[in-house]
Parts: sequence; structure tokens; C-alpha cells
Amino acid sequence: MTALANEHQALNLSQGFPEFDTPEALKNKLNFYSAQGFNQYSPSSGVPALQQQIADLVLRKYALTISPEASVTVTSGATEALYVAIQALVSPDDEVIVFDPAYDSYQPAIELAGGKAVHIALTAPNYQIDWQQVANAITDKTKAIIINSPHNPSTKTLKQTDINALKLLLEQHDLYLISDEVYEHICFDGATHLSALGDDALFARSFVVSSFGKTFHCTGWKMGYCVAPEKLMVEFRKIHQYVTFSSFTPAQLALADMLKEQPNHVDELSAFYQHKRDVLSNALANGRFTLLPSEGTYFLLLDYSAISELDDVAFCEYLVKEVGVAAIPLSVFYENAPGDRVIRLCFAKEDATLIAAAEKLCQL
Ligand code: PMP
Ligand code: GLN
Repeated sequence: MTALANEHQALNLSQGFPEFDTPEALKNKLNFYSAQGFNQYSPSSGVPALQQQIADLVLRKYALTISPEASVTVTSGATEALYVAIQALVSPDDEVIVFDPAYDSYQPAIELAGGKAVHIALTAPNYQIDWQQVANAITDKTKAIIINSPHNPSTKTLKQTDINALKLLLEQHDLYLISDEVYEHICFDGATHLSALGDDALFARSFVVSSFGKTFHCTGWKMGYCVAPEKLMVEFRKIHQYVTFSSFTPAQLALADMLKEQPNHVDELSAFYQHKRDVLSNALANGRFTLLPSEGTYFLLLDYSAISELDDVAFCEYLVKEVGVAAIPLSVFYENAPGDRVIRLCFAKEDATLIAAAEKLCQL
């Protein structure tokens, strides 16, 4: 869709990446460490200073004490961490429960491990998980559940009742959890993110994955990490060692400094993106789209059923070619799309871009 947006010179609110740059201080630190000659392999599990900062962040945010050496591994993006966690867990014929709409890398990683993704479809406008339905989907082959909160693309955040229900099922059936928390620092309207790191019993069976790309506006650096209990991390590292071995050294050093010197960056991210959500929402208020509530992430969902009968893929093609705005159809995140007429807009863009895109959309 980004290629199509470029071809038609459309405003690109499709693929999830910031239009603005990563902080100047972070760029300077990256340049500094490279110029100083820190350009060789880092230890496979990560630069110790960054492992320490991640452990400190986990303690500060979720009141969990972990060993930086034994429980934190730095990866080349959250995508690598997800892939490695899945390879570490899943054996041929194992089943993994995935909630649709789902981030696109889960299913291929499960299949490459010889496993089977069991999809549970969540639908507009609430995308609420029915935990009884999850219980019914569990078989003696089920190995793990993948959750993602705040959720791309629905924007939903798990509530305490969800966490309780999830924990009960994991314990009853002895399952593992892969918790994709790449948008952990982007939660709106005063809500606090409920992490698998915030609950001892849940963490005991979890691989928790996050991404610096989302947090520091540097998606192109592909820097992420996984936090897991020591026993699980041993298995994770057996795979990580042969997938990438280690990640980009100057970026690890730069990120360690940023986390230490500017803790406010992480703390201010929710307010920063809530402003953008509100700019886009207000600018769309006079249009004919129905806005679904955005609880977190940097996405907003629009229901266009009052505007067009087209399916969502055709509607997005029309938008990019005829209206000049690129969006993502929700159906691409499903194994069996429910036929909702919903599209996703990314608001990690300059305010002026958001307002210009909304003006075009309001003409429909
Ligand atoms: N999970 C989700 C839900 C995402 O939206 C993304 C970002 N595209 C990722 C994982 C991957 O993050 P990274 O770019 O760090 O690999
Ligand atoms: N996470 C981003 C999105 O959902 C982009 C990642 C990608 O293009 N693979 O749009």
C-alpha cells in the first residue's frame, strides 16, 4: 500500500511508521558510537548496558525484578523476537491460538515451525475476546496463545478481566503465552497498559516482546527485545543464536543511553499520540465515516458502511487512486474476514498531514 501511495502521490496513512524523525539526541548517539569504533558484534543476548536499561524499565513500569543477563535478549526488531519465541515453543503439529485481526508475521512463523495457527475472529466495533470461545478452541495439541495489547489493528487494550481469564486458561491447560506488547507505551485516556510482566504467574509462562521502533520513532532500525523467565530464555537463545546471533551494536549503545538519560520520552509517548489521535478524529468529525474508539497504538479505525458498498480492499484502492489517501483494509489481517467495512488509518504523522488527509476523506 505504501508503494501504491507513492505511485499515486497519496497521503500515506497506511503502513504503520512515523512521518517524523527519531529524536535528534538518539541520532547523535548512534553517530557517536559508530564514530568511536563500536562497530563489531555485540554479545549474542545484547549489550549489557541495554539489557540493564530494559530490566530497569520493566521494574519501573511493571514492578517486576528480572535478571538483565538471564531474562533479556535484544533482537533485530520485535519481528525477530516473535519469530524466535515461536520457533522455541512450537513443534510439529502443535497448535497456537491467534486472534484475528492479527499482525501478519504470526501465522507464517507458526507454520515454519510445523505448527498450526488456530484463528479466533474478533469483529467490529468492539473486537472483544470471548474467553469461553477461547476455552472451546483449546485441544490437547494447543501449546500457546499469542496476544497483542494494545492491539494492531483494532487498537483494543486488554482489561484486568481479560488478563484474569487468560491466566486461568494458561494455568488450567498448561499453555505458554507470547505477548506482543510493541505499543506498550501508547495507551490513551489515562489507561495503564496491563503487561504480562505485571503479573508474576503470567510472566512465569510468557515471552514478552517489545520494539524500540515504535517507542523511539525508528522503525527502520529494526531494534526490539524479548523478556522471559530464565528457563524459557535459555530456549529462546538457542534459536536467536542461529537466526541473527546479535543485533546492531551502535544502536544498542545509543538506545541504552536514551533510556537512561531521557526516561521522560517513554512516559510522554501516550500524550504525544493521544494528541495526534484527537487531531485526526476532530478533523474527521464532519465526515460520513464512523470512528471506532482508539484505545492505544497509533491507529484509528473507520467504518465506511455509510459511504460505500465496496469491499474494504476495493475501497482502499479507490481511496488511494481517486481520493489521494492511503489506508489499510482490515480484511488483510484475517484468515476469514467477517466482511466488516472497516479501514485502518495510521496517525503517526505530522498534524498537517492528518488534517489534509481528513479534508479529503470528509468530501466523501
Ligand atoms: N507486532 C506488531 C503488532 C506490530 O505492529 C509490529 C510493527 N509493525 C511488530 C510486531 C514488529 O515490530 P518491529 O518493526 O520492531 O519488528
Ligand atoms: N506494523 C506496521 C503496520 O502494521 C508495519 C509493519 C510492516 O509493514 N510489516 O502497518
